[in-house]
Amino acid sequence: MIDSSAFQGKKAAYYTLGCKLNFSETSTFGKMLEQMGVTSAGKGERADICLINTCSVTEVADRKCRQAIHRMVREHPDALVVVTGCYAQLEGEKVSQIDGVDLVLGSNEKADLIQHLSEAWSDPRAQALHQFRGVKTSDIVSFQPSCARGNRTRYFLKVQDGCSYFCTYCTIPFARGRSRNPSIASLVAQAEEAAAEGGREIVLTGVNIGDFGRTTGERFIDLVKALDRVEGIQRYRISSLEPDLLDDELIDYCAHSRAFMPHFHIPLQSGSDEVLTLMRRHYDTALFARKIHLIKQKMPDAFIGVDVMVGCRGEKPEYFEDSYNFLNALPVSQLHVFPYSERPGTAALRIPYVVSDADKKQRSKRLLELSDQKTQAFYAQYVGREAEVLFERATRGKAMHGFTDNYIRVELFPREAREEFDNQIIRVRLGDFTPDKTALRATIL
Ligand code: SF4
Repeated sequence: MIDSSAFQGKKAAYYTLGCKLNFSETSTFGKMLEQMGVTSAGKGERADICLINTCSVTEVADRKCRQAIHRMVREHPDALVVVTGCYAQLEGEKVSQIDGVDLVLGSNEKADLIQHLSEAWSDPRAQALHQFRGVKTSDIVSFQPSCARGNRTRYFLKVQDGCSYFCTYCTIPFARGRSRNPSIASLVAQAEEAAAEGGREIVLTGVNIGDFGRTTGERFIDLVKALDRVEGIQRYRISSLEPDLLDDELIDYCAHSRAFMPHFHIPLQSGSDEVLTLMRRHYDTALFARKIHLIKQKMPDAFIGVDVMVGCRGEKPEYFEDSYNFLNALPVSQLHVFPYSERPGTAALRIPYVVSDADKKQRSKRLLELSDQKTQAFYAQYVGREAEVLFERATRGKAMHGFTDNYIRVELFPREAREEFDNQIIRVRLGDFTPDKTALRATIL
């Protein structure tokens, strides 16, 4: 039984590392604690609970997690310190031994945060518990629902968790478990709630979103259709879709849907078939190119962002050149470039060919330059054209920003910014680039 009086009047401090999914989960932890009477600790205020939600995507991420834990322990010496997230699942025992850490919750346990906190407080040895509560990857089955408010405008709705793909370089399936999802009905209810709170845009998040349905037997396209009918939500974006799961029916539906935006984010990882095979990805470059061309044929204005990993084991110079040339020839709008990071326990470590750090850096630089060229060329097509922009709240006297349906970042001069534009879709004429070239100026029509 949970003793709610133990929570009343307590203060919590949060620290999140990693992806949007983690941020959205932390916000859900915050809501769960709030319902129990816990408030957020203000700046400089000492908390009774510290929650650190970790990431383990690279070695650097692991190091940042350890630093964050030490800092939180130092800043909140009397708090019950709880660590969860991917690093906590992968290195649970190790994390639990860090000075000041009381409780480490694995990926299956975090959904029962309140229960675990209640038990920890009722333990006479509470504080300095150094406990890891977790199960092995194959036993991770829980799904923690989450629909977090990024700002007044945008919500992040978690539609799926975990991954069953096991790409050779990736630890996510070990950290988050196999692919699982909630029902379409429960997700529609969360979207309706976001709409009732005034949310205009929802970003669907997950680890391998296109794999939706493994738990419930439902189809991702049916989720998309059901969400499209939720009144009040004017825009949806899908945070990322594996190319092999981005089916033609979905592309066709998005082209005619009410609220799904002409905006795709597709992880390619490499434009070399040899490297894709080494990575054990589920597609080849021919399939990827076909999907991109189909999107552009059905939605010529679509913005397409692509994830690319550089310097993974086995990426010989000629394979990188193939990858570069493949991307250069594709009508995509932006590249998200990630240097490969060795992760313990991954199959990629068995590939003998290693890329030096200097080569990784140089390859990243070339792809980032290509990305800038592509994004600017994409934006340039819209200079002088009309567009609808969903504006976000701005500080008084500062420029206002927003995005067009096809994800062009737009800036409104402070003199044109109005409080009433906040969270509204407004028709504008797009003008020139801002000096840093990351947005187009706009004038209200
Ligand atoms: S699809 Fe591959 S890269 Fe993505 S989470 Fe799953 S295993 Fe990792």
